[in-house]
Amino acid sequence: MELLINDLSKSYPGGVHALKKVSLTIPAGMFGLLGPNGAGKSTLMRTLATLQEADSGSATLDGIDVLRQKDQVRRLLGYLPQEFGLYPKVTASELLGHFAVLKGVAPAKRRRELVDALLRKTNLYDVRDERLGTFSGGMKQRFGIAQALIGDPKLIIVDEPTAGLDPEERVRFHNLLSEIGEQIVVILSTHIVGDVSDLCRRMAVIDHGEVVLTGEPLALIAELRGRIWRRFAAKEELAELKTRHAVISTRRLAGKTVIHVDSDARPDESFEPVEPDLEDVYFRAIKHHSAPSA
Ligand code: ADP
Repeated sequence: MELLINDLSKSYPGGVHALKKVSLTIPAGMFGLLGPNGAGKSTLMRTLATLQEADSGSATLDGIDVLRQKDQVRRLLGYLPQEFGLYPKVTASELLGHFAVLKGVAPAKRRRELVDALLRKTNLYDVRDERLGTFSGGMKQRFGIAQALIGDPKLIIVDEPTAGLDPEERVRFHNLLSEIGEQIVVILSTHIVGDVSDLCRRMAVIDHGEVVLTGEPLALIAELRGRIWRRFAAKEELAELKTRHAVISTRRLAGKTVIHVDSDARPDESFEPVEPDLEDVYFRAIKHHSAPSA
């Protein structure tokens, strides 16, 4: 399984250029698509999920033309959208059974077995007869994964899954995603760096509709070793420090502000070296993209 995206472009009426010749090679396994709000992630995910049209470019999934052979793609696709509308008065097993009918799972006995298996897998079996309106955010997301897994998908698209989940629910959700397997393509679109560093073998960073970086998280982190320096900074110093140094991020650590600076050599005595992490990779890519001369 491999998803090839080539020169995909999309403009919205009103002039927003949401995707600008996006090209990506996405192999089987979990792939992280990371970018700030408005980067174009949902536009790309909805296009790959056959829910909207691109202006130009192509995408193929093991030879299937994703933009044109929509019915074939839909048979292979599991999609968990950003906004997952649920019917609040229907129970988990009823709605899952309904989705299974829509996906063509038959006969009824097979459908029941599948629904039960998915409810167990997503840890919702005990609440299967409860109405979806009573579910917490994490339970809804797990239900979303259960419906995305119906019909043995070969491509799973998960858009912004952990926003709004508490830490425990997020871990459960991560564990569930990581069980899906390495044989199929799973794209996880998110603005949360930790989701990608926890789960993804490969990743891309997208900003203003353009792919600005792609690779393996661990390799991308290793490339920055020896380049990242940090120091605490008082609020009043920040503006001046940003003019003097390539500040890639401003973080809070134990109630203080810490800046991370990208530099070949130690900027001055006040800085200490720090092991790079995926946030450094991400913020550096975004910064270089928005200010390439900096
Ligand atoms: P992301 O998912 O990374 O937040 P989106 O794909 O939702 O990014 O949006 C990319 C850009 O396209 C944003 O500037 C957004 O405002 C714009 N956009 C998204 N959907 C529409 C739409 N239906 N009509 C007009 N502009 C849109």
